[in-house]
Amino acid sequence: MAKYDVAIIGGGPGGYVAAIRAVQLGLKPVLIEEDRVGGLCLNWGCIPSKALLWNAELVHLFRGAPEFGVTYDALHFDVAKAIDRSRLVVERMVGGVEFLLKKNAVTVVRGRGQLIGQHEVGVQPSGDVIEAEHVIIATGGITRTLPGIEIDGRTVMTSREALELRETPPSLVIVGGGPVGVELAYFYRAYGSEVTIIEMLAHLLPQEDEEISRRLERAFKQQGITFRTGAKVASFAKSNAGATVTVDTGGQEEQLSVDKVLIAVGMVGKTDGLGLEKVGVEVESGFVRIDERMRTSIPGIFAIGDVTGKLMLAHVASAQGVTAVEQIAGREPRPLDYERMPRCTYCQPQVASLGLTEAQARERGIDVKVGTFPYQANGKAIALGRTEGVVKLVADGQTGEVLGYHIIGQDATELLAAASLGSVLQATSRDVGWAVYAHPTLSEVLKEAALAVDRQAIHFWTGR
Ligand code: FAD
Repeated sequence: MAKYDVAIIGGGPGGYVAAIRAVQLGLKPVLIEEDRVGGLCLNWGCIPSKALLWNAELVHLFRGAPEFGVTYDALHFDVAKAIDRSRLVVERMVGGVEFLLKKNAVTVVRGRGQLIGQHEVGVQPSGDVIEAEHVIIATGGITRTLPGIEIDGRTVMTSREALELRETPPSLVIVGGGPVGVELAYFYRAYGSEVTIIEMLAHLLPQEDEEISRRLERAFKQQGITFRTGAKVASFAKSNAGATVTVDTGGQEEQLSVDKVLIAVGMVGKTDGLGLEKVGVEVESGFVRIDERMRTSIPGIFAIGDVTGKLMLAHVASAQGVTAVEQIAGREPRPLDYERMPRCTYCQPQVASLGLTEAQARERGIDVKVGTFPYQANGKAIALGRTEGVVKLVADGQTGEVLGYHIIGQDATELLAAASLGSVLQATSRDVGWAVYAHPTLSEVLKEAALAVDRQAIHFWTGR
């Protein structure tokens, strides 16, 4: 019976990062994976979707090329080729992680892991039993479904099927206006589909600052993406050609006949079949309950990533993985602050944020100061012809600390890196605004928004 310091069940961005960090800390890990390393993120999430979204962006660029004096006689888009390319990108990334695990001498065991004791993991179908001082549960999540709507993978899809759909559906309803729904809406619209998003809450990307969500809605309307907010699916029926979805928007019903329906209403933790009840690991509302250092209710057993339901993002899973193994190595890591984690949506215009929205800050009774700066006043954005967007900073009026960074516009997801650093350093708007940024760059929007907190933006006139 093999014996390890830590057995990690699940090789996604939570599990594989934890394994590599464990080796760096002098621990002996074993990684148990039933499918392919890289998890949802590399195989069917972040990476293939971003490869496809780049395709959508290229389509947009080509459509707008005449504005830049670039013309062509005929333009063809082959969505099947885009899918093929996205799968190649996946292969390369998964191969990269396999290489890293090998180089770090991480033992990877193929099979389904299940807790059979506080320090024992059984593996199926081999029947092997792995003994480990500590266990990390990193099994990810499973797609939520809606009652009465069966996912058949053809007419009714999840993102999993969408990411390998080799033809563009003429029309499509997307249920769920969160990041996944919004990104795929942008993708299909770029390729010519008639897209309608149905979102239960008041806005698309309801977790974002309301001003940013409203701007995205405006941009989507201009792109011809239809959406219903404050709306729900009242009934659903499959037909020969597709499906009819009845949408209830504030008591008003309408019927939408479409070729395909995409369900993008989030995930629940993958907790079934893990033997959690047997060893007494507590599960709360479908997720493994953890403390601020990833410890479950049972000593020696940790959980990280989507299975914990904290903030279901790849970089959060990885950060949790590092925290868990640092804890195991006795390093007492700093607890993670989920409010200070970056959140990105890669449609166009991109949306990126970190920290509190203006409404959240006000709800907490903070004396809030807000600075905003539009892309249309930024030289680089004008040069690129990408003037849609804004940066909004939410600062504490007393201390000046920036509590929330909210960006919509070109390369917003890249600009957010500065916000991550600012947040870790607890930067004030003065710090962010007084740093010198290269000109001309899009990053100057961040500087100017920070200056705008105290009405000191240089390149925008807001009156005295
Ligand atoms: P996972 O990546 O789900 O990995 C879990 C692994 O555990 C899997 O490989 C699974 O096979 C394995 N496993 C499960 N049970 C067992 C078992 N019993 N035994 C052995 N192995 C097991 N996040 C971002 O940050 N940025 C994005 O741009 C982004 N885009 C996304 C796009 C889409 C379409 C989707 C669906 C998600 C996206 N996400 C994105 C979310 C991101 O994919 C997840 O947050 C991330 O993958 C979670 O990592 P994890 O390690 O917790 O779980």
